[in-house]
Amino acid sequence: MKILRSVDEVRAQSSAWRSRNLKIALVPTMGYLHAGHLSLVQQAREHADRVIVSIFVNPTQFGPNEDLDRYPRDFARDEQLCSQAGVDAVFYPEPAVMYAPDHSTWVLEDSLSQTLCGASRPVHFRGVTTVVLKLFNICGCQLAVFGRKDAQQALIIQRMVRDLNVPVELILAPLVREADGLALSSRNKFLSPEERQQALNIYKGIQQAKETFRQGCRNAAELIAPLRQRITDAGGKVDYVEVMAQATLRPLTAIDQPALLAVAAFFGKTRLIDNLFLEV
Ligand code: AMP
Repeated sequence: MKILRSVDEVRAQSSAWRSRNLKIALVPTMGYLHAGHLSLVQQAREHADRVIVSIFVNPTQFGPNEDLDRYPRDFARDEQLCSQAGVDAVFYPEPAVMYAPDHSTWVLEDSLSQTLCGASRPVHFRGVTTVVLKLFNICGCQLAVFGRKDAQQALIIQRMVRDLNVPVELILAPLVREADGLALSSRNKFLSPEERQQALNIYKGIQQAKETFRQGCRNAAELIAPLRQRITDAGGKVDYVEVMAQATLRPLTAIDQPALLAVAAFFGKTRLIDNLFLEV
């Protein structure tokens, strides 16, 4: 497995593969890898000939008071996990490789980015779309894999690819959970054992909403209220619990089209997200 740190190194590797007609998949990550990330690698391997994993804690998607400096990092461990998972190359750039000091060009998705995490984290998705398009351009991939754990991000990248005619095929992979149901996240390591137990109520509340929906309830408020209550009762602080139309990420009152139940909540200082796609 190759470790590539500069744009030129990635371009040279990618050109060599492309000249042999090998299909390249990219799995963009911020590192501190877990089984959720590795499931994306697995999908990439199934659908392409060569897999690049990028590991880059992208500063432009963090707001001024967010956890950029605290974000967990362990490159040695990530390297080992990638190697074991059959990754062909890891792109591991320094921030200076990705951003010139006078960087001033942004990719801005202007609609889906306005609600949910976009409302709580104003510069977040501008940073995400910009870095993802840069990574596509650097890696010359024909395919990229994103997880449904970050449902809004996945829908925004889909929209960007469509709107800007980006020649990259996307796979949106299922959300991977711990054995007890907690959504895998690099940020879970910040949870104390007590917070870890409390946070499980996000999953339990989502399961309850799933069952209510399965039984035929199409009233968004009736899915939202018990979930909100459960998180608050467990000691969490709700950022949002919403049912949105998948097509617009605007709130639905009656669930009469494909929808997304999306949750963000703090347990202690740690902000966790989770979701459920509701298909009608
Ligand atoms: P991150 O390193 O958190 O930026 O995530 C990199 C990619 O892995 C994104 O496409 C995420 O949606 C995906 N991902 C993170 N956690 C999970 C999970 N629990 N299940 C599935 N995909 C995930």
